[in-house]
Formats: sequence, structure tokens, C-alpha cells
Amino acid sequence: MNARIEKLTKSFKINEFQKALIDWFKEEQRDLPWRESKDPYKVWVSEIMLQQTRVDTVIPYFNRFMEKYPTIADLANADEQDLLKVWEGLGYYSRVRNLQTAVKEVHEKYGGIVPDTKEEFGSLKGVGPYTTGAVLSIAYGKPIPAVDGNVMRVMSRIFNIDDDIAKVKTRKLFEALVEEVISHEDPSSFNQGLMELGALVCTPKNPSCLLCPVLEFCTAYHEGTQNDLPVKKKAKKGKTLQYIAVVLEDEDGKIIVRQRSSEGLLASLWEFPNSEVLSSWKNMVEDYEKQLVEELGVEVDVVEPLGVVDHIFSHLTWKIHAFRGEFRGEFVGSDNLKAVPIEEVEDYPFPVPYQKVWKEFKEKRGIGS
Ligand code: SF4
Repeated sequence: MNARIEKLTKSFKINEFQKALIDWFKEEQRDLPWRESKDPYKVWVSEIMLQQTRVDTVIPYFNRFMEKYPTIADLANADEQDLLKVWEGLGYYSRVRNLQTAVKEVHEKYGGIVPDTKEEFGSLKGVGPYTTGAVLSIAYGKPIPAVDGNVMRVMSRIFNIDDDIAKVKTRKLFEALVEEVISHEDPSSFNQGLMELGALVCTPKNPSCLLCPVLEFCTAYHEGTQNDLPVKKKAKKGKTLQYIAVVLEDEDGKIIVRQRSSEGLLASLWEFPNSEVLSSWKNMVEDYEKQLVEELGVEVDVVEPLGVVDHIFSHLTWKIHAFRGEFRGEFVGSDNLKAVPIEEVEDYPFPVPYQKVWKEFKEKRGIGS
């Protein structure tokens, strides 16, 4: 044990703390669909979905996903476009691509059984230390820490730690600390208890300390510092890119859709024709109209604005100036650029910003969903 952990836990009543947390979790835990079984595949899918996404949002996605892909084999053999469609709206699409790659490896290399060691499970694509701890503790009862932002918040308050949680070395400190205090009898309830406490009681703003099952163990509460913790230094703001996008329709009601490249941001998803607004352009609409005529080989009219859609990624923001337009003439597409009947547009997986553009278009055209 390193000296810092030793100092932090020296007079900490580990057994009493574990008991208070686990008893509370067993009593108060929310009824969530992935808690109905300890199937490691289900726990794994839920943990991947829950990264960066709220529980309420995840529930219907999880249920639909399990209906469509109830087993490792089903997911391993899934068609990528169908899979992206099921994930559509959850964002961070690399999560589901990595999940499928990892599940294929489990299917082929481990005979469809999710491996139960830190080394094997942790080496699968998209599986970091948090997911490893969460899945192996919940599904297999292994005493491995599962430290995410929620858990760091709770632990920083209980131990009154003001290190910057945006730093990797602080995460490692919390992992070492949880490793020291985790219950070996019931690591599943312990880890889930910390997560649940962070979600329901020890919330980012105004934690409900008076209802907290571990109040007596909490240094921040006793020192009145709970609202100052955790410390997280702001990351530098990402840049903003301006785009123009046009939903183009012809007189037969066909809409032009385009597939993004299979590499990079939002890979392989679909969108409407768009371009980054170039600094050399004098008039965004007219200049893009000309570009579209060249790219698509048809006549194009940009008819009316649909609004501006902002989409924030972790490192940059897209500002999409969306328009409705019309095209005429013979359109020759390809596998990645098609004119599809208006009622089929929603069969294609679109990332959230282009779903918003599509919604604006339907409202303008008076088409119901
Ligand atoms: S007492 Fe308050 S600050 Fe401490 S763990 Fe409980 S809710 Fe969080």
C-alpha cells in the first residue's frame, strides 16, 4: 500500500463503512432492467451504454438492444448498419463498434463466455479499467474497483481529497483507495452502492448529506467542504466548425442521403449533403449551391432555412446551418450517395445532429413522424 493510501485509511472504519453502504444499496437500489440478472453480457452492454449517457435514456435502448441481440452470438453476427440503427441517438458510436469487435473476440476466442480475469477481459476492445471493474465485480463477484466520475466524486468527499479528478494520476489514486476499502464478500453491491450513492444522494450539486447512509464516515461533510469537491479543472474549450447542410427533395419525393466515411468521427453513419463553410465563400448559400451542382450533377435550389443545429462533441462543436432545397434532373448515385423515397429516410442510421435537421425538415413540410 502506498503511503498516501495508508494515511487516508489509517483511522477509517472500513468494515462499518462497507456494511452501511451495502445495506443501503440492497434496500434502496433502483429497479433497472440490467439488474435483473448477473449475465456478464448484459452487464457489459449496460455499462457501455451508460458511459456518457443518463440512466433514463439508456433503459429503452437497453431493452430494444436485448430484444434484437439477446446473446453474444447474435451481437457478434449483427450487421453493422442494423447495429448503428439500434444505437442511433445514443451518440459516441465508437462505443458500439468497439463492443461488437470485442464481442466477436469473445465469441471466437473464448467460446462465447465472457472471460472473468482482469487481464483477459481488460484487453478487449473498448474495455477500460472502469468497465473491467464494473463487469467483473457485478457479474463474477471479483473485488476490482470500478472508478468513474461518480465514484470519484463520492470518494473525494468521503476522504476529503482535493486532487484534480481530470488527471489520470488522480483516477489511479482513487482506484488504489477503492481497492483498499472494497468489500471482498460482496464487491458487486459495494461497487454498485458507490455508483448508486453518487447518482441518488451524493449528487454533484447540493448532495443530500442528511439522508446519506455513510454520513458518519464522510470527512467532507464534517468539515463542510462537500460542495467544493471534487476539484475538476476545466479542459480547454474545443473549437467550433461551421457547416451548411441541405435536405434536398425532388418532385417524386426522393431525398438525397450520403454515408460518411468508414473512418473517423461518426464513421459510416448517414447525413444530408453538407460542407464546412469555407472562408473563401462570399455567400454561404450561393457558394454551396454551386458546389452541390458540381458534386451531384443535378440542378439545385436552396429554398428556405430550417434553422441552426448545434452539436457538441467532447473536443469540438458543430454549428450546422440547415436548409431545405429541391433538385431536378437525372441523379446518378452510388452506394454511399443515394436518392431514397422520403418514407425510407428513417431506415438509415443518422447521428443526432442530422436527426435534428431531419426533424426540422419534417416540421417545415408538415410531415408527421
Ligand atoms: S455525507 Fe454528503 S458529501 Fe458525504 S458521501 Fe454522503 S452525500 Fe456525499
